[in-house]
Amino acid sequence: MPAALPQLASVLVVDDSTVQRDYAIALCRELGVQMVYEAANGSEAVDLLTMLVLPPELMIVDLEMPGMDGIELIQQMSLRKLDIPLIVASSREQSLIHSVETMGSNLGLRMVAGLQKPLQLETLRGALRHFDPLTGASSAKPARKLPSFAVETLAAAIDQGGISVHYQPKVDIRTGIVRGVEALARWQHPQFGFVPPDAFIPVAEKHGLIHRLTLSVMAQALAQVAVWNTRGLRLSVAVNFSPRLLERPSLVQEISALVDRHGLQTDQVVLEITESHVVAYLGTALGVLARLRLKGFGLSIDDYGTGFSSMQQLARIPFTELKIDRSFVHGAHHRRNLRVILQSALEMARQLELVTVAEGIETVEDWQLLQHFGCTIGQGYLIARPMPADDLPRWLKGHQKRLHELRAEEPRLTGAAI
Ligand code: C2E
Ligand code: CA
Ligand code: CA
Repeated sequence: MPAALPQLASVLVVDDSTVQRDYAIALCRELGVQMVYEAANGSEAVDLLTMLVLPPELMIVDLEMPGMDGIELIQQMSLRKLDIPLIVASSREQSLIHSVETMGSNLGLRMVAGLQKPLQLETLRGALRHFDPLTGASSAKPARKLPSFAVETLAAAIDQGGISVHYQPKVDIRTGIVRGVEALARWQHPQFGFVPPDAFIPVAEKHGLIHRLTLSVMAQALAQVAVWNTRGLRLSVAVNFSPRLLERPSLVQEISALVDRHGLQTDQVVLEITESHVVAYLGTALGVLARLRLKGFGLSIDDYGTGFSSMQQLARIPFTELKIDRSFVHGAHHRRNLRVILQSALEMARQLELVTVAEGIETVEDWQLLQHFGCTIGQGYLIARPMPADDLPRWLKGHQKRLHELRAEEPRLTGAAI
């Protein structure tokens, strides 16, 4: 059953070609849009927007236009605080469209999709399926409004057990068999309800609370893994580690003690550290990382691809795992430039003998591509969303039944063959 499309009252189509514009207008009408405005270039669009009392709920913007082109229009919209959700449409290559989308998001605009022309009813429908005309947010790329809260509230939550942990399975890409979980912090705020970690982790980092928070997450996660161990389910656990923590010389002792207390072995624990931060903190951090590695902890480069570290820099750090950021994973099967990056990251990791993890796998197509590329571990909504520990047994049961769908059909290709 296709999801119901949102009812759009008004759309503005900006395109210099009359034929293309008329075609886009016809598609909008077919989708049930009541009012379709049109403009032949960026400046006409800006003029129209300043005149309209009720702005359109969505704009479809061509890139190449005489006068003010699509890129300048997007920049102007950001400058003039014209906060209207946008679809970029162009006959140029997907990588170019995608970079304009990224530019728009970086400017704070709500980018719904980047589509290649000629537009098709189905692709437009697909792009709009996740679009919420009330907030303008696409559920594929949520524009989060973060709640603001007092630091003291967060501190109290950390100390009083208000931060809980959800677990997202990490599975073997060849067989689908679960290998481990990633522990993700959750804060159920009494007033705001669920606060996403992207909202409170940076606050904890800034106000010196990250150490307490991480130890709380780690203590819960290790206790949980110990329980699973006793039930015969041996899973590794990955904990997100803010690089700030690596400034603490006592850290190695503290977390080794936690692992001992739960009767676990350090090789069951992976510490994920974001790539973009690793190199910046390398001074003191390197000693701490080396000691963690000596103790047997796994060390993962998280969000790989989002920073600008060179392989030479990363190769000097005793990592055991490379975790490729989901922006290079999601949609890789139909985006050639993502595939190229993925493949070269996987190849490099193989040469460094690192375990490779792809996060953000949402579709079977991306899953099969990673299988084909010989990635080791997969994680993402296709397999499971993060869940409370109590839900894991039920998920496992269902997952067992899906294993035959996930298993690789052919033997994995060797590095030389891909
Ligand atoms: P991350 O380490 O990159 O964690 C993965 C995030 O991607 C999680 O978001 C997860 O729910 C989400 N995710 C997983 N699979 C998919 C998928 O298929 N598609 C999409 N679109 N998203 C997927 P979450 O739980 O909101 O966490 C956000 C970030 O907060 C984490 O990103 C991590 O950087 C940080 N974080 C979470 N818990 C902790 C913690 O205990 N300590 C520290 N320092 N940071 C944490
Ligand atoms: Ca992570
Ligand atoms: Ca990540």
